[in-house]
Amino acid sequence: MRAFIYERATNVAAAAHVSATQGNTHYLAGGTTLVDLMKLDVIQPDMVVDINPLESSEHGRIEFSQNGLRLGALVRMADAAGHPQVLEEYPVIGQALKLAASQQIRNMASLGGNVLQRTRCTYFRDTSYTACNKRNPGSGCAAIAGFNRAHAVLGTSDNCIATYPGDFAQSLIALDAMVEIAGLEGVRTIPFAMLHRKPENTPDKETALRPNELIVSFLVPAAPWTRRSVYLKVRDRESYEFALASAAVALDQQNGTVRNARIALGGVATVPWRATEAEALLRGKPINEQNARIAADAAFAAAKGSGHNDFKIELGKRTLSRALQQAAALEI
Ligand code: FAD
Ligand code: SF4
Repeated sequence: MRAFIYERATNVAAAAHVSATQGNTHYLAGGTTLVDLMKLDVIQPDMVVDINPLESSEHGRIEFSQNGLRLGALVRMADAAGHPQVLEEYPVIGQALKLAASQQIRNMASLGGNVLQRTRCTYFRDTSYTACNKRNPGSGCAAIAGFNRAHAVLGTSDNCIATYPGDFAQSLIALDAMVEIAGLEGVRTIPFAMLHRKPENTPDKETALRPNELIVSFLVPAAPWTRRSVYLKVRDRESYEFALASAAVALDQQNGTVRNARIALGGVATVPWRATEAEALLRGKPINEQNARIAADAAFAAAKGSGHNDFKIELGKRTLSRALQQAAALEI
């Protein structure tokens, strides 16, 4: 057993202040990632600050307004996934959450914890491998010359090729969401697309969060594309499995022609991946098999396989192409 301090915070300011009293502090929400990695001895916090009491405030609520949707960071995945208005007005969000993890995990896990689950691979989780730049900066990467079937083909570096594993984040990227962050210096709001960092030379630094900051909510703007949206996830088994490839697609379509397309890819990249080149190619065109494939080819133009995961490039293209055609065919 490793000893650590356990604190419980009843408001955001107290959470940030108490977490600053120790060097290596982690917030505890559902604990489905944090406790797992602590048990594996992959992370060793000095202090764990339990933020679950925030669930009874606005940080545990789902709210709709004419400006859009606000999801508190302590909302449980299952509650957002099963919310009728989320499913009707922002289907890509409900679908991404429903296809993530298992019902039991979704009942425990929070939206904030979901987007902050570690970008990780099996070598990261197994401390018998010393070479992992993410766990042990400067030690190398066991995956690059190892078994890398599940690893990323977009946004990789010579230091890390781990795949960002979540699903919900792709739906937020596709819908241009913002994330509200609180810390010792108050609250700031940034585009959600700026939250995750590519590995480059520092794979251990995964997000733009400053020390002691916590996520308090996600703001999804109302827009003409939110209802015509789809999340498609392809994986080794039908349930309870991470994506090999996924696509979050949202379309503003008029008389069969795309006015605006929003595309994010999962399971294939080191961060939740926005495919802006593909979006631009679809503007002013109808979605048919040929145009969807042209967009998918553009989305993966910079993809680079590492051997076992080469198949993900074609799989990712087919996943995106199918998601685009599904979204275009929706009757709204
Ligand atoms: P915690 O474990 O409590 O926290 C996770 C991390 O985020 C910790 O570092 C914690 O300090 C930090 N944190 C939590 N909340 C905040 C906050 N508000 N502000 C700042 N930091 C915070 N996920 C998918 O998306 N798709 C899947 O297919 C999938 N499959 C899974 C299969 C298994 C077997 C397991 C165990 C997990 C799977 N997951 C999947 C991951 C799961 O969804 C996450 O573990 C969960 O969403 C994390 O939420 P949590 O509230 O339990 O986070
Ligand atoms: Fe570690 Fe990243 Fe290499 Fe996996 S891919 S072993 S997480 S450095």
